[in-house]
Amino acid sequence: MTDKKFIVVAIDGGAASGKSSTSKILSERLDLMYVNTGSHYRSITWAILEGDVDFKNERSIIEVLKTLPIGHLVEGKEARITLNKQPFGEEIRSEAVNNAVSLVAAIPVVRQYLLEHQRSYSNLAKNAGFKGLIMEGRDIGSVIFPNADFRFFLTADEAERARRRQLEGQVDSIQKRDQLDKTRKTAPLTCADGATMIETTHLSLLEVAEKLQAIIQSGKDT
Ligand code: C5P
Repeated sequence: MTDKKFIVVAIDGGAASGKSSTSKILSERLDLMYVNTGSHYRSITWAILEGDVDFKNERSIIEVLKTLPIGHLVEGKEARITLNKQPFGEEIRSEAVNNAVSLVAAIPVVRQYLLEHQRSYSNLAKNAGFKGLIMEGRDIGSVIFPNADFRFFLTADEAERARRRQLEGQVDSIQKRDQLDKTRKTAPLTCADGATMIETTHLSLLEVAEKLQAIIQSGKDT
């Protein structure tokens, strides 16, 4: 590990690229607070679907967001978002949420709503005594923490990613989500300049984690 006291690790990549599993392993091994920002967009999407709000209507979305004060809940190494004091469970992984989340995540006011919240996890992790923060998503290395100590972008070919989702028992059109995420105007899915790209198609989760851990422990900034 670097001799810096606190590190921020940003992990981005497309759907089912292995971000969550890798981040969880590293969070355990290196004592980093783990934050999954996909679940932030999923929770807001779930609330919007529950409220039967037309997510093409920005004004209605703003009205909904006003009723959803953001908070967090730390459980073990993971910090989760709460909306209106409520954490979310498996319901945010439903087919309905999978189908709508990329449309909701493309709405600038939604991204704006989450930006400061996501950045605030760095202080939260510091104050809670973690050695660092590991945050995964689509724009962590490009927008949320462009100066993170380590920035990784995970890729895997599409057939392999679809296979991984199927093994999880999920109905998820990852190709469609990736396409929407890559082509949106605000904070599109992209490998940030200077981030380290890791191709994971032929690697096991542990091998991916080992690779990232070696880079982090060598202390070479990305
Ligand atoms: O990571 P996960 O696949 O659960 O993310 C769900 C969706 O949330 C993504 O397809 C994307 O539309 C959105 N997302 C995002 N920015 C992030 C994390 C997720 O736009 N940082």
